Amino acid sequence: MQRHRVAVIGAGFGGLFAIKALRNANVDITLINGTAYHLFQPLLYQVATGVLSEGEIAPPIREVLRGQENVDVKLGWAESVDTDNKIISVAGPGINYTVEYDTLIVAAGASQSYFGNDHFADNAPGMKSIDDALELRAKIFGAFEIADLQEDDEAKERWLTFVVVGAGPTGVEMAGQIAELAHRNLPGQYKHIDPRRARIILIDAVGAVLNTFGDHLSTRALAQLHKMGVEVELNTKVVNVDRTGIEVESERGHQRIPSMTKVWAAGVSAPPLARKIAAATGAEVDRAGRIMVNPDLTVPGHPEIFVLGDMMNLNDPSTGRPLPGVAQVAIQGGKYAGQTIKGRLRRKPPGEPFKYFDKGSMATISRFSAVASIGSKIRLAGFFAWVMWLVVHVFYLVGFKNRFTTVLHWAVSFLGRGRSERVATEQQAFARKAMYEYGNPFERARLDDAPPADEISTTQVEPEKVSAKR
Ligand SMILES: Cc1cc2nc3c(=O)[nH]c(=O)nc-3n(C[C@H](O)[C@H](O)[C@H](O)COP(=O)(O)OP(=O)(O)OC[C@H]3O[C@@H](n4cnc5c(N)ncnc54)[C@H](O)[C@@H]3O)c2cc1C
Repeated sequence: MQRHRVAVIGAGFGGLFAIKALRNANVDITLINGTAYHLFQPLLYQVATGVLSEGEIAPPIREVLRGQENVDVKLGWAESVDTDNKIISVAGPGINYTVEYDTLIVAAGASQSYFGNDHFADNAPGMKSIDDALELRAKIFGAFEIADLQEDDEAKERWLTFVVVGAGPTGVEMAGQIAELAHRNLPGQYKHIDPRRARIILIDAVGAVLNTFGDHLSTRALAQLHKMGVEVELNTKVVNVDRTGIEVESERGHQRIPSMTKVWAAGVSAPPLARKIAAATGAEVDRAGRIMVNPDLTVPGHPEIFVLGDMMNLNDPSTGRPLPGVAQVAIQGGKYAGQTIKGRLRRKPPGEPFKYFDKGSMATISRFSAVASIGSKIRLAGFFAWVMWLVVHVFYLVGFKNRFTTVLHWAVSFLGRGRSERVATEQQAFARKAMYEYGNPFERARLDDAPPADEISTTQVEPEKVSAKR
């Protein structure tokens, strides 16, 4: 007799933890993921700034799931789901295929939002994928090299001005790391520029940095950023981005900031697949395109389809607000979906609704300095919070080898003055856009057909999360 077939779309936190929860279940699992690796997104900014190598934060899925015999891993982008016949259509690299399921788990994460200004992506890459991080690495280190070659002071300044848009955790971490590069790692290595003269500008439309962390930690983070030489422009809205600069509006009026290196860390929307599934099932989506799910994480009217992590919208009864797009929501959702499927196979009555346990949030600002918010009472800032950040991130990195080399690289960067991963090839700097423009079908399957820009909202998305529809 055929075993129950579970298809999982996405090998992020949600997908992987669901699969692991089904380790000993009497099911056949097919995992479809657009890349051959699992990506630990919280450390992408360290790949972009030369602290870590891409391999350290992106272990091969096959290696992660080695030994779990009930899983078949397939490379490809799920393009659509025929929910009546329970068939997924997938675009693989040069080969299209279908996967049939009895139960479907969709955990395809989030995409970047430029709030209706997708053309900003050409000159302000986001940080959602390894490609994004390597492209940014090439741009950041390249900017110092090119500045060193300029005769003209204005051009030097333009190349030495780095603008980060979005003052959530990713933007703060990114600005902090570029400031460390400029002030601590790179000085003394150039004959014609002083990297310490670099301007690092952090911009946000709201009035606080790390505004989800509360007033106290937000103020501490702002003070630390100022101490590191980061210029913070709050209540400032980006109205245009082009090759040589960025235009903003604030109470001081319209301003143009000449800058060759811009980083977008300011918004998310659900990937195109979410809208397709919503259209097929009649489910509602929120303004960021996330699917509104039942309290047991299933799509209304479709108990066989679970939606997890960044792709779902579920109200948290304890706060009255949608659950945030963070790793723990996806991890706990994955475990819950796996357990629910196991319970159903054993014909147990439906269990309790999904309950999210908030373990807290953290962000690093620089080496030895972080902020951590745990529960409603504990607020930490400074060295102790940074040590906690370190321990938590090592714990959640997948694989012993990755943990080991990550700790070594952190020692090089945080105790010493080095950056072990400064290499960026011309391909990393330029090839992705070319691939897209020349119509690489695999790349197009991932990027095309995104939700209409005017339906993407800034209000319901997590400010720390960034990604790119490019
Ligand atoms: C730069 C950055 C920093 C972050 N920092 C933190 C942090 O410090 N703490 C924290 O808690 N959270 C952080 N987050 C958020 C956290 O990473 C996400 O909430 C979490 O990864 C969501 O898990 P997920 O399983 O829903 O999706 P993801 O982990 O995004 O996984 C989605 C997977 O689906 C695949 N996929 C997408 N579409 C398709 C498709 N159509 N077909 C097949 N496969 C597909 C992708 O390749 C990916 O492997 C950060 C996110 C970013 C981008």
